[in-house]
Amino acid sequence: DGRPQAKHPTDDLVDFTRIHINKLPTVVIIGRPNVGKSALFNRLIRRREALVYNTPTDHVTRDIREGVAKLGNLRFKVLDSAGLEAEASSGSVLRRTAEMTGNVLSRSQLALFLVDARDGLQPMDLDVGKWLRKNAPGMKTIVVMNKAESLDDYDGSLASAVGEAYTLGFGDPIALSAETGLGMVELHETLRPLLEEYVLQNINDDESQENDSSEDMECKLPLQLAIVGRPNVGKSTLLNTILQEDRVLVGPEAGLTRDSIRAEFEYQGRTIYLVDTAGWLERTKQDKGPASLSIVQSRKHLMRAHIIALVLDAEEIAKARRSMKHVEVVIARRAVEEGRGLVVIVNKMDLLRGEENSKLYKRVIEAVPAEIQTVIPQVTGIPVVFVSALEGKGRIAVMRQVVETYEKWCLRLPTARLNRWLRKVMSRHSWKDQAAQPKIKYFTQVKARPPTFIAFMSGKTQLSETDLRFLTRSLKEDFDLGGIPVRILQRTVE
Ligand code: GDP
Ligand code: GDP
Repeated sequence: DGRPQAKHPTDDLVDFTRIHINKLPTVVIIGRPNVGKSALFNRLIRRREALVYNTPTDHVTRDIREGVAKLGNLRFKVLDSAGLEAEASSGSVLRRTAEMTGNVLSRSQLALFLVDARDGLQPMDLDVGKWLRKNAPGMKTIVVMNKAESLDDYDGSLASAVGEAYTLGFGDPIALSAETGLGMVELHETLRPLLEEYVLQNINDDESQENDSSEDMECKLPLQLAIVGRPNVGKSTLLNTILQEDRVLVGPEAGLTRDSIRAEFEYQGRTIYLVDTAGWLERTKQDKGPASLSIVQSRKHLMRAHIIALVLDAEEIAKARRSMKHVEVVIARRAVEEGRGLVVIVNKMDLLRGEENSKLYKRVIEAVPAEIQTVIPQVTGIPVVFVSALEGKGRIAVMRQVVETYEKWCLRLPTARLNRWLRKVMSRHSWKDQAAQPKIKYFTQVKARPPTFIAFMSGKTQLSETDLRFLTRSLKEDFDLGGIPVRILQRTVE
């Protein structure tokens, strides 16, 4: 299916685990005393270490704590500010505490403004709001109604608390409970785009620091390879050929490769892990019913591998009208959808020996690349290798393709180079009229493995699906990215 590649709303744009702690965005928790700031802080950092700064004020000792929060796939620095206390007489926020908290504000990109959902808004909350607006104008602030576990939709208590919190003027509030964990998913959903944007913006600022060493590093990580295919296509035999030793049990019975095989080997100075493939497609061997059960289970395995080598049987291709069985098509598509690199291996070529000039042989050689292109139109140039594992041939051919595909999968293109490329590509292409030309402010690669790009669009313009296809195709051609899924996403900038 030719699904457009920009439609991955659940895709993470940013891998927060790879960001250095000093570059993580900072979120400050703010609010009057007793709203549950510490409770939320503790939940966010879980059992991790917190740095504590002692900040003695006139009456009490207030701590400002700093820790690294983990919320789903998000990671950010979190600061638990000193509580902002109002002076009873003047109604203004206590100066000493406010100063401390002011320092904290200046180090943060985002504020979580906590209120107590059960108590309802207090005058002091309004003071905190005023203070925040004055001391951190323009700071993105999210009102968090804590202690919401006892409120519910039915008696209207939640709705009225939301309505009240809304009057603080910081946009839609979210309800959660730091104590029970209720609402943490909503917090995650709210924070994700904001934190991602911050990180992406910073990547762009760091453009000048880009160098080749970080690219090399990523590609030197061990390559995780999965060899998959229907029973009896010769996976175990191929594995032995690749490992060059008889470690895997090979037999004529379908589904003999039951046990987990996890091997590690070196190929041209590179470490390769063979990930478990046991049970992958074996369940479908009776060809009864849909393959979906094992496909669902295989998803987890697919995600463990960087490169998927899908093995097909040449003899079966020669016999059949279609070169790929349904389950093979599903696996190939799934591999690409999950962002894995794909290499197709046609095994048992020895069985067609002596027929090199025949129509049949020619059909096998031509059918597979053509068919894989048809069923996976979104990824062009998927490599196809023809081997005979039984004769011990194919190690080099297979591994060369696997490593090449992995290197493309890891590729990182510097932003400056990409934008030079973009200007060329845009001038090369002619749009029907000037107005139809998409206005891309800049173009950057946000991650590798697989290569993922973001087009920052100016104003309200959007890339159409045709534009996206055009850009994807150009990227693949100009940077030789055949065989790997390339994703382009778009963001609007003011
Ligand atoms: P802080 O002064 O804003 O840091 O507030 P604390 O985190 O010390 O919490 C004040 C009180 O509220 C404590 O007794 C907490 O146990 C309680 N509390 C915090 N979060 C929740 C919550 O989600 N639900 C309920 N019911 N109580 C909470
Ligand atoms: P698996 O179930 O995919 O792991 O397949 P196996 O590696 O167990 O192989 C199944 C059968 O195919 C065995 O009888 C192998 O000897 C045979 N086989 C594997 N590779 C080749 C090959 O390249 N040529 C031929 N003729 N037979 C092969």
